[in-house]
Amino acid sequence: MKKKGSLIVISGFSGAGKGTVAKRLVKDYGYSLSISATTRNPREGEVDGVDYYFKSEADFKNLIDYNGFIEYARYVDNYYGTPRAFVEKELEAGNNVILEIEVQGALNIKSQYPDAILIFITAPSVEALKERLIGRGTEEEAVVAKRMKRASEEALEMENYEYIVVNDVLDECVLDVHSIVISRRCELKQNLEFIEETKKGFEQI
Ligand code: 5GP
Repeated sequence: MKKKGSLIVISGFSGAGKGTVAKRLVKDYGYSLSISATTRNPREGEVDGVDYYFKSEADFKNLIDYNGFIEYARYVDNYYGTPRAFVEKELEAGNNVILEIEVQGALNIKSQYPDAILIFITAPSVEALKERLIGRGTEEEAVVAKRMKRASEEALEMENYEYIVVNDVLDECVLDVHSIVISRRCELKQNLEFIEETKKGFEQI
């Protein structure tokens, strides 16, 4: 019996390093990473179809109308959404799929996919977070301020997540997330079909 893949939702403050963690899960453990669509402008070095599918607002709204997203949200003046087709195909093929999305999207996913694993990644402290955001150098001061404000709002939502992982040492953080996923896949309630099959197998002997 081929098990479906797990859906892993990674959220965290802007600057907590969740993008890096997600990329490592792909590289080290073969997870599939969903590429979101967004209406925000590409940052320097970002590539269409690799980092995001960059869309006009009209195209994005069209995709909403055609049920093209499993969830979408507005974040700091832009739309972000998770394309449906890729996620469904990968889960069906038994692959673990990572969504790197913000809090509203995460809660939306949990209500549609109750087995989804909700993980919040955070920097070791608020000070460290601010330093990382400034250090990234990709955002203007006003944008940093807006993102810090949004992060303070997101902090209020941390309790909606199932796991909190501190990203201090990257290798440890990646291992923590992978361990959570393995542990969830081994949970009794995730294996009820397998148990039934095993019992039947014994009855036939
Ligand atoms: P950024 O502009 O820094 O790339 O992303 C801003 C926020 O949008 C991040 O918290 C990121 O996780 C979130 N985000 C990216 N893609 C999606 C998506 O498809 N859906 C939702 N709900 N949030 C997303």
